[in-house]
Amino acid sequence: MTSPFGKARIAVAFLFLVLAVNFMAAQTLNHPQGVSPDGKGGAVENAAPTGQSVTTGNGINYNGGPVMKANPVPIYIIWYGNWNGTGSNKAATRTAIEHYVGTLGNTAPMLIDSTYGDTTGNVSGNVSFGGSTIVSSSTNLSDRSLKSTVGNAISSGALPNDPNGLYFVLTSSNINETSGFCTKYCGFHTHATLSGSDIKYSFVGNSDRCPSGCEIQSTGPNSAATGQGGIDGMANVMFHEASEAISDPDLNAWFDSSGQENGDKCNFNFGATSTCTSGTACTTAGIAAGAKFNQSFGGNDYMLQQMWKNAGGGACVQHL
Ligand SMILES: [Zn+2]
Repeated sequence: MTSPFGKARIAVAFLFLVLAVNFMAAQTLNHPQGVSPDGKGGAVENAAPTGQSVTTGNGINYNGGPVMKANPVPIYIIWYGNWNGTGSNKAATRTAIEHYVGTLGNTAPMLIDSTYGDTTGNVSGNVSFGGSTIVSSSTNLSDRSLKSTVGNAISSGALPNDPNGLYFVLTSSNINETSGFCTKYCGFHTHATLSGSDIKYSFVGNSDRCPSGCEIQSTGPNSAATGQGGIDGMANVMFHEASEAISDPDLNAWFDSSGQENGDKCNFNFGATSTCTSGTACTTAGIAAGAKFNQSFGGNDYMLQQMWKNAGGGACVQHL
């Protein structure tokens, strides 16, 4: 592990940990990092725009790696745990999240990602719902078993082997991810070689496990009942992770000098919001709670964090 490549891999793992910690630590505000970019520092400092697709100078750096340029990027979901349970751990939540993913492509928030590119092209801003599978289990996940869960879904044929896609493992609220769900992060993304492909995957837990840490409001615009904010909490974290995974799939493309990816730079920063009232697409519970939302598409209202725009000097925005 003394080769430059080996060190880079260690640094990436370190970067990942930092990002994961930031997600929770910066929940209401982006806390400044005391993190030195060891190992990846040279790449950060020496990165240069090497193609017309790479636009820099907007508060986030290009570090040389690829972005995901598929149009659309298929999103696959592994429903892990007990998704025929109580609260928001229900089939209705699965349906709602799959509808959300299926309508997210080319929306105003998703198109912000199209400001990121590599030397051969830009992110499309389009995503699609590629399919799902259910893994019923009462066993908590670790980073290792998370990886094997994704690997098994692919090797078994439950989901396709797609290096151009993004796999989400969504856990019911009785399931913990022992590397720090609810204490250090609400979700994270990473990648690994599985079945011979570079597979990009993300963990997002049902935020109803820790609403105070992972939800901006405990009853959201899509809540089926008061206090069931899991749909909206997960939708927000999924937007964060999808935007990051597509612009930084191998953890070597787009992040700033503090190691913050585009989602981290606007973490839990929602911008201007509207209030659920009768006449909006919000649920009865969302209206009763006066839930907030800031995006509307696919027949629903959502509360999604803003995303860093790699243009015009850079900023957290709701749309380009
Ligand atoms: Zn992040």
